[in-house]
Amino acid sequence: MGETALTIGADTFAFFTRNPRGGSAKAIDPADASALVGLLHERGFGRLVAHAPYTLNPASATERTREFARQAMADDLLRMESLPGNYYNFHPGSHVGQGVERGIELIVETLDATLAESQSTTVLLETMSGKGSEVGGTFEQLAAIISATRLGDRLGVCLDTCHVSDAGYDIAGDLGGVLDEFDRVIGLGRLKALHLNDSLNPMGSHKDRHARIGEGSLGLDAFRAIMLEPRLSGLPMILETPNDLDGYAREIALLRSFAHVGG
Ligand code: FE
Ligand code: FE
Ligand code: ZN
Repeated sequence: MGETALTIGADTFAFFTRNPRGGSAKAIDPADASALVGLLHERGFGRLVAHAPYTLNPASATERTREFARQAMADDLLRMESLPGNYYNFHPGSHVGQGVERGIELIVETLDATLAESQSTTVLLETMSGKGSEVGGTFEQLAAIISATRLGDRLGVCLDTCHVSDAGYDIAGDLGGVLDEFDRVIGLGRLKALHLNDSLNPMGSHKDRHARIGEGSLGLDAFRAIMLEPRLSGLPMILETPNDLDGYAREIALLRSFAHVGG
């Protein structure tokens, strides 16, 4: 993973901790993991942003599904200790008709059962588009989860640009205003990473369909502003655009070119 990242000009990346649409996980090869730790250090990578499987739903109405969420997350956090000090991002979950408040309660229960005092990983809640019964489509919901979790100091937020726009935040038209709002509700100190995606759909659509950078409703100017925003500088930025490796290399070069304008 580290060597592939270097070939496309990346200095961070995401990876799935296990099969994203199932749940099974490959055994970790300790020699490979320590070679990666060495490479990350040597080549000056920023923090990595691992992604939990999509099948994990801590807010489910079904005990068996919640049990899978607890087990997978606990095991993922153990596995993350092979790459100490990085981020583990997850979708807070869908309340499937139980209501947002119950959903938040169940997510907090999962985090309380899973987070350990000793872990070196910061767990990130991803901002969601509010599709279906997704929890995490507003900054207030994320703040509620963080403040109710016992080890809340181990939590941060990963802001997905497609999701926040789909959720109704005008990140393309008023980045500064959205960050002010984030700061007021959650606190910018909690903002640890970004998912950079354009959106196929207009603001407030609650759809969650990613587009390539500059090819969606956010547009190139939105990403130029993001790259020039001092409050976002230094954060790991992860592309989740529909692309291949060459496409990612071009998007990384494009984004880096914005960051250098005037600076
Ligand atoms: Fe995600
Ligand atoms: Fe995302
Ligand atoms: Zn998405």
